[in-house]
Amino acid sequence: MPIDDIPELGFASLAVRAGQQRTFEGEHAEPIFATSSFVFANAAEAAARFSGTVAGNIYSRFTNPTVRVFQERLAALEGGETCIATSSGMAAILATCMALLKSGDHIVSANSIFGSTISLFTNYLSKFGIATSYVPLSNLAAWEAAIRPETRLFYLETPSNPLMELADIRALADLAHAHGCLLVVDNCFCTPALQQPFPLGADLVIHSATKYLDGQGRCVGGAVVGDRQRVGVDIYGFLRTAGPTLSPFNAWVFLKGLETLSLRMRAHSESALHLARWLEAQPAVERVYYPGLPSHPQHELAKRQQSGFGGIVSFELHGGREAAWALIDATQMISITANLGDAKTTITHPATTTHGRLTPQERETAGICEGLVRISVGLETVADIQRDLERGFQRIASHSDLSATRGETTDR
Ligand SMILES: *Cc1c(COP(=O)(O)O)cnc(C)c1O
Repeated sequence: MPIDDIPELGFASLAVRAGQQRTFEGEHAEPIFATSSFVFANAAEAAARFSGTVAGNIYSRFTNPTVRVFQERLAALEGGETCIATSSGMAAILATCMALLKSGDHIVSANSIFGSTISLFTNYLSKFGIATSYVPLSNLAAWEAAIRPETRLFYLETPSNPLMELADIRALADLAHAHGCLLVVDNCFCTPALQQPFPLGADLVIHSATKYLDGQGRCVGGAVVGDRQRVGVDIYGFLRTAGPTLSPFNAWVFLKGLETLSLRMRAHSESALHLARWLEAQPAVERVYYPGLPSHPQHELAKRQQSGFGGIVSFELHGGREAAWALIDATQMISITANLGDAKTTITHPATTTHGRLTPQERETAGICEGLVRISVGLETVADIQRDLERGFQRIASHSDLSATRGETTDR
């Protein structure tokens, strides 16, 4: 029986099986269709495919069977009608805006979104007459005040990067819909394994598959999930014309990533909670940002809206940039990289990397202090991650004047 005809499969079953259609070869794992074009039985069939009267593959910029399995599987996991895969997360955001907005339209966006998304809105969409207003993520009144007659779209990520602030998706969906706007949620940090925006009222879900959907830091890709008209017709129409579609090989890697998604997200969340609690008890730490801690101001919302707290933990050190850099440089196993959502734990200093292009004033408004460190907790033995950070705390403790450690390197 085709898997998509079995009713009421659980999340983990869909993650392993949704979307697969075996070929006549009887393969068990999904094949990679490494082909740019497809052949037709005769000229009439070619004409019928091109005219759209008969469905079927034509060219891999339009459709590809491996990409289709990934799309159907992700749509099933998010509980959305349909999904379109893209060459990157940014391509998913671009395609959404190009397909659904026109000159004169207005976006209200959270100010705590991915840096390239802000750049896309502010530096590029603005050239085509699409304006964006930025508001604090959790301030509902600010969202309402920013709405104009020409507002078409609300845009947000929750939890936010790197301060793990939450948006109340249902409240923002209600506000958006009351004003004829769409709510777009970038679900990168939680993935559908921990948070499903559609039942809370979101209209479109965006993914950077590069992060947790892959989960092992191998490929760049993205997706948009939503209804048949907006995603299946409008956004798909832009993609097949403009071309930032996903390659079948990358789709296959993400497909394999989805099979272990719920297991991985549970493990990331478990280790992150353990480390967040431990970090909170460190004398060098001023504050820990993790929605799973009772000290998080939106802990109750996180429990209601998410089924897990995720793998990203940020914390602020008393000693500012010197302490942060000393801690980062003292680690031996953890990777110093700004990427996240990997099996490998990564550590980064947002003020001088991901948020380095902001002015000091903008950083202060955003709450990105010089002492802030962000960890994407991986799947290593959690005691080893803790021990690696412990080296950092020892380095901080042994230097009352941390300038002595500046520029010092470790073997990696
Ligand atoms: C990485 C990221 C993106 C962009 O995705 P790419 O695959 O790098 O293009 C968008 N949103 C969030 C939250 C991200 O972390």
